Amino acid sequence: MRLVLLGPPGAGKGTLAGLLKEKLGIAHISTGDILREEMKNNTPLGREVKKYIETGELVPDQVVTKLIDNKFTRNDLADKGYMLDGFPRTEQQAKDLDKILQKLGKPLEYAVYLESSLPVIIKRLTGRRVCRNCGALYHIPNKPPKRKGICDECGGEIYQRADDNEETIKTRMDVYMQSTEPIIAFYQAQGKLKKVDADKDSREVQRILMKLFGA
Ligand code: ADP
Ligand code: ZN
Repeated sequence: MRLVLLGPPGAGKGTLAGLLKEKLGIAHISTGDILREEMKNNTPLGREVKKYIETGELVPDQVVTKLIDNKFTRNDLADKGYMLDGFPRTEQQAKDLDKILQKLGKPLEYAVYLESSLPVIIKRLTGRRVCRNCGALYHIPNKPPKRKGICDECGGEIYQRADDNEETIKTRMDVYMQSTEPIIAFYQAQGKLKKVDADKDSREVQRILMKLFGA
């Protein structure tokens, strides 16, 4: 299966990808995770993108598109199946993705749109906590780790993303509405859009999608 996950910050793309990954056995590619890893390792790319990420602005298209292009040419993702999470985020990125996939002869199958309401988004983002080591997701108070501040999966340290504060969340929502929302129409026109109510619990969303895919 070859798909992209669309939806505002906090719609649950990462959580859902974690669930679907097990069920479908396909790769999960999150540009946000890749960029944060670069920042953690203080690489030139990490230093370049830091200011955008911390203020909630988009990293320039060429930078992320290059990253995705490299991933696809170096791996057999297109053959094995994948979920893209956080990419594309602009119409330009969506068009470039089509070109990359066209070269490989494996077009996208679905664009899954996680539709969610603002109050739910804010609650999810302000409560979100992440493992610094393995990226596992937690939520205060909905899904706290068993031991405070420590990851259940790997014992790593749990932290709150610098961009998960109310002011930056607002910027991210504005950026989403302006730059990312238009690509929903782009995929609708291609007949690839699948909408799902993402205010529901992520396990329920997963069940709905599995049915939709006929998997
Ligand atoms: P969320 O979905 O919670 O907003 P992500 O982890 O997907 O967060 O992304 C975090 C940040 O990384 C974004 O706010 C942006 O600065 C940067 N980023 C990630 N993917 C892209 C992309 N495709 N294009 C531009 N910037 C991106
Ligand atoms: Zn962990």
